[in-house]
Amino acid sequence: MHSQTSTQKLNTTSRDLLPFIESLPDAVIIVDPEHKIVLVNTHASDMFGYPTDSLEGLDLQAIIPATHRHAHKKRVDQYFRSPNTKAMSVQKRFSGLRADGTEIPVEIMLNTIVLDGATAAMAVVRDVSYQRELEDRLIQESLTDEMTGLYNRKHFKAQLEAQHSGFIRSALPSSLILFDFDHFKNINDEYGHAAGDTVLIKAAKVVQGELRPLDIGCRIGGEEFAIILPNTQLRDAVTLAERIRDRIEKTEFRLDDSTCHITVTMGVASFTPSDQSYDSLMKRADKLLYAGKAAGRNCIISQEALAGRLGAVPQK
Ligand code: GH3
Ligand code: MG
Ligand code: MG
Repeated sequence: MHSQTSTQKLNTTSRDLLPFIESLPDAVIIVDPEHKIVLVNTHASDMFGYPTDSLEGLDLQAIIPATHRHAHKKRVDQYFRSPNTKAMSVQKRFSGLRADGTEIPVEIMLNTIVLDGATAAMAVVRDVSYQRELEDRLIQESLTDEMTGLYNRKHFKAQLEAQHSGFIRSALPSSLILFDFDHFKNINDEYGHAAGDTVLIKAAKVVQGELRPLDIGCRIGGEEFAIILPNTQLRDAVTLAERIRDRIEKTEFRLDDSTCHITVTMGVASFTPSDQSYDSLMKRADKLLYAGKAAGRNCIISQEALAGRLGAVPQK
């Protein structure tokens, strides 16, 4: 006798069940408490790229990506101990592993059945590649500056906040470069607003080309950009800032029927223990940037240099 659980049990045999699971629009995989796949429908074989029937007899781990296997095994054991019908994908994004080694995003609904007299779990597995791609694209779009393809101010704030948490929790150093284009109004006045846009788009490419994979390049205002540098000390941030400043200065921006040059002024700062929030780093970098404007533009003012070169500008 099987103990009664919150899950509705279905007593059946594999012979009776097959026409039913074959009629469903989703993949169905039935697993015994030892994690062995005991019955699948054609959709499941197709979805995971196996010949008909060849999934049966395999350990369920065969269709779980290696990085999720350990956690998944625990969940399956947990499920057999206390089954419920909650979708496994409510909190987490699940993926299956296909025979060719590629992963497929899935959503899973579980139910307990009694198959040929023994308890089994019936997983209804839906391919959610389309939804997942759409979701990823919408998320990406909501964080991206449409014009330059850099991250937008919203993502900038969220990431800087995350870096501040990392600094407070684990003393991970993080730096910030803020920069603003010099006399940008002149570009607009001389060549037109569209040309100004072209300069910003091309400058963003120059910036992006200098960044390491973890660096986060953002456009946080009209012609104001920021770069978050995770795990980076101030001196390395200054080196990178100098390279970008130099690259922009040397770039010839080609416009429709002319070319132009532009420079940027930068403020570079790193988190310090007195920073109560990400906002204090931002304010400090902003002050440094404007100290650079006051000092003549096309330059970098860093937190360290500030005391020596521009002692009048207060550090918060
Ligand atoms: P400064 O060196 O002091 O920064 O001088 P600036 O002329 O760059 O002055 P400021 O930063 O105050 O003004 C920036 C100008 O850039 C104002 C605005 O018309 C223009 N601008 C802001 N965003 C955009 C944009 O997306 N496209 C274009 N074409 N122009 C922009
Ligand atoms: Mg400007
Ligand atoms: Mg500005």
